[in-house]
Amino acid sequence: MKCKTCGQKAVVNMRQHKLALCKEHYLEWIPEQTARFIKKYWMFGPDEKILAAVSGGKDSLSLWDILHRLGYQVDGLYIGLGIDEGIGYSQESQRLTKKFADERGLKLHIVDIQKEYGADIPALEDKSKRGQDKPCSVCGLVKRHEMNRIAHNLGYDVLATGHNLDDEAAVLFGNTLSWSRELLPRQKPVLPAHDGLAKKVKPLCRFYEKEMTAYAMLRGIEYIYEECPYSIGSTSIYYKELLNRLENERPGAKLSFYLKFLDAREKGLFAEQVESSTAPMFNCSKCGQPTKYDGECSFCKLIGIPSDEPSLLA
Ligand code: SF4
Ligand code: ZN
Ligand code: ZN
Repeated sequence: MKCKTCGQKAVVNMRQHKLALCKEHYLEWIPEQTARFIKKYWMFGPDEKILAAVSGGKDSLSLWDILHRLGYQVDGLYIGLGIDEGIGYSQESQRLTKKFADERGLKLHIVDIQKEYGADIPALEDKSKRGQDKPCSVCGLVKRHEMNRIAHNLGYDVLATGHNLDDEAAVLFGNTLSWSRELLPRQKPVLPAHDGLAKKVKPLCRFYEKEMTAYAMLRGIEYIYEECPYSIGSTSIYYKELLNRLENERPGAKLSFYLKFLDAREKGLFAEQVESSTAPMFNCSKCGQPTKYDGECSFCKLIGIPSDEPSLLA
């Protein structure tokens, strides 16, 4: 297999794009494509300050690397979740993120949930008593709150996350199975800022997970290979496996599933629901952040729950 650009030996063959590239041209192609997606979806301009949420994994570190190479003003935010049972997941991911930033002279903000709020994610999950066997919903709530808080307090214009096509297609698949009128309209590469919520963008949303793995490896980015221990056996991983089986039989099916959805929403498929999802927000009476509820936001309720009291969460 030869590189389509220079004819040298290809190291990456993307059946879904009918494109094979050598290392040099692949490392150029990914940032070029990212720049194209940023423009196509009106994500941000050269003057905007970007905060990239980085977890130490291949996607978010590659995102930071790419945006920096493209010349954007981009700093990193690492949220220490305290998920350290077994492999020391949080400690190792923080170490690799810090190393990445130090080696490139990039600015990294670190927020430690335990230090900030006196409890890590496993402890908050215990307190929330949501009755689930995984702390992902508590963890998601904490991450959303902290990302928005830091972006707002430090004056960033945009919050960028490293979601790839496999992530987006799996979420879309789950939302489609339940025909979620609430969640389907909200799934898009750009969520505009509104009512105190920072603008959120996903510049890697059209790249397959394996394309990001190849980028991180060929670029020599040191990232954490292990997944978060709580992700094992999750529904999203199951959906990813199902979609990979489909993709193996029909290369390009995953990308087409996602892009045709974006196209349909662009043509007004969810116009009615989008109207209703922009309902006015309240400001949390405790932290001041936007919330759907009048009074304290879900995050402040969670943090404020004494360990021996039942959950106040909806
Ligand atoms: Fe948090 Fe769940 Fe993701 Fe782990 S898998 S980082 S607990 S959301
Ligand atoms: Zn080449
Ligand atoms: Zn609050």
